[in-house]
Amino acid sequence: MEFVGWMYDVAREQSPSEQFLEEVLSRSRRAGYNAVGLYLEHRFAYSSAPWAAGPGCLTPEVARQLTERFRPQGLRIIPFLNTLGHMEGFIRSEGGQWLAEGRSSGSQQTCPSRPECAEFARGLIADVLDAFDDEWVHLGGDETKQLGQCERCAARVEQIGKAGLYAEYFAPLCRSVLERGRRPCLWGDMLIQYPDALDALPRETVIFDWHYDTRPANTTRMFRQRGFDVVCCPSIHMYDSGWCFLDASRQNIDAHAEDARRLDALGVCVTTWEFSFFTQYMSTLPIIYSTGRRLAHGEDWNAALVAEGGKDYALAADILGNRIPAAARFLQPGTWRQLRDRFVIRQNPFYLWQDWREEACGSICDRILQLCDDAAHLLPAQSPLLFPIQLHRVAVQWVRLVERAHRRYADGDLAACASELEGGHALFDRLRPGLEQAARAGGSAADPARLDLLIEKLERICRRIRALPTGTAHRPAFQALIHDAYVPSDQAAWRPGCGLA
Ligand SMILES: [Zn+2]
Repeated sequence: MEFVGWMYDVAREQSPSEQFLEEVLSRSRRAGYNAVGLYLEHRFAYSSAPWAAGPGCLTPEVARQLTERFRPQGLRIIPFLNTLGHMEGFIRSEGGQWLAEGRSSGSQQTCPSRPECAEFARGLIADVLDAFDDEWVHLGGDETKQLGQCERCAARVEQIGKAGLYAEYFAPLCRSVLERGRRPCLWGDMLIQYPDALDALPRETVIFDWHYDTRPANTTRMFRQRGFDVVCCPSIHMYDSGWCFLDASRQNIDAHAEDARRLDALGVCVTTWEFSFFTQYMSTLPIIYSTGRRLAHGEDWNAALVAEGGKDYALAADILGNRIPAAARFLQPGTWRQLRDRFVIRQNPFYLWQDWREEACGSICDRILQLCDDAAHLLPAQSPLLFPIQLHRVAVQWVRLVERAHRRYADGDLAACASELEGGHALFDRLRPGLEQAARAGGSAADPARLDLLIEKLERICRRIRALPTGTAHRPAFQALIHDAYVPSDQAAWRPGCGLA
C-alpha cells in the first residue's frame, strides 16, 4: 500500500504544542505510517483571516518546522482544510458571520454562490500552501447539507442542480491548487450523493472515500472507474462512543485496507474525530499507533497494541473498548455516544439520569463498576486511560445519586433531596484533574469549563428545589423540575412537556 496515513483532528478545540506533535509524529513514523494529516478548519493562524486565530491554534511556523523535520524521515504532513461545509469556527467568530449560508443561525456552511466566499477560501488555501510543502492539500467538501439554501443558491440549483452548484464551487478551487503545482483532495460523501459533479473535477483530484460503519468497495470502485485516485478512510470510533468501540474500529480498518488493496486505491487514511466533550487523544494514541503497525506490516491487532501501549494498556483498552460497551444496551456500538451526550453534550447532566436510570441503578451497572475497577487496577497512576474509566464510574454513580434524590423528592422531603444532590458536586470534581491535565497537554480547553457548567446546572436545580412552596401537597414532576425549560408555577410545564429545551 503506497499511502498509510492517519488524520489528527486539530479543529475540535485542540491546541497541541510543537513538542507534543513532534512526539506524535515520531511515534507515527516508527509505527509504520508515511503520512499524517492535520485537520485544521479554523484552528490555524491564517494570515488572510487573523480574526479567526483563537488561542493555541497551530501556527505556520510550527507547520514549517514539523514539515522540515519529518520530510527527510519519510513522513508526509498533509494540511486538511474545509472550504465549504464545516466552516462553523469561522462563522461563529466575530468578523466571520458574513460567511454563513442562508439565514439559519445554526449555519455550518459558507455560500458557494457568493464570489467573496470563494475568495475567502482561496485565501485559506494560499496560506496553507505557504506553510506546508506536501504535494497534497485537502479542501474538505464533506457534509455540505445546506447546498441550495439561500435565494441565490436556490436559483442556481434550479438551473444546474445541487451537483452543478457543488462542482461550480469546487472545480475552480481544485484547478487553482493544480496551478500552484499541488494536488487537491476532497472527501467523497457529497460526490457519492451527487456523482454528476465528478465530470467537472480535474482527474488529478484525490478522493477520500470515508465509510465508518461499512466497507468502501462499491464507492471506491465507482471513483476508480471514473478515473480518480482514491484513499479509503475508516475511523477509530471515539467520536460516537463513551470512550472507543475498539473491535468495531478494527473491523472497519481491516475492511478498508482489504478493499484499498483489491481496488488499487492509493491506500488508507485512518480518521480520528472530535476529541472534546470529555474524550482525549492521550488515551487513544497507542490505538492509533497500533493501527499503523497493522496497516504497514500486517501485525496482529493485539500484538501491535501491546507493542505500542504495553500489556496492561491492551487489557484495559479491551475492557473499556469492548467489554463495557457490550455490558449495557445504553453503551453498545451503534447507540451513538449516549453517555457523553446525556451527561455533558446537552449541558444538563440530569438528562443522563432520565435516559439511563434503569440500567444504571441495577445489576448491569454493578457489572460496569466492577469492570472499571478491573481496568483501573491494571494501570499505573499516570495512565491517561484512568480518565475514561473515571468518566464511566462518575456517570453511573451520578445516576444513582439522582435516583436517591428523586426518591426523597417523591416522598416530599425536599431538604433531603437537595442535600443528596449537593453530593454531586464532589462527584463531578473527580473529573477535574483529568480534564485539566488533558487541556494542559493540548486537548480541549473548553472541557474544564464544561464541567463548571454541569456544576452550575446542579446548583440551579438545588435552588429550584429549595424555592418550592412548602405546606402544599403539590410538587412539579421531578422530570419537569430538572428540565432546562422549567418555569416555577407553570404546572402543565408546557415547554418541558413538549420536549423543548
Ligand atoms: Zn448561498
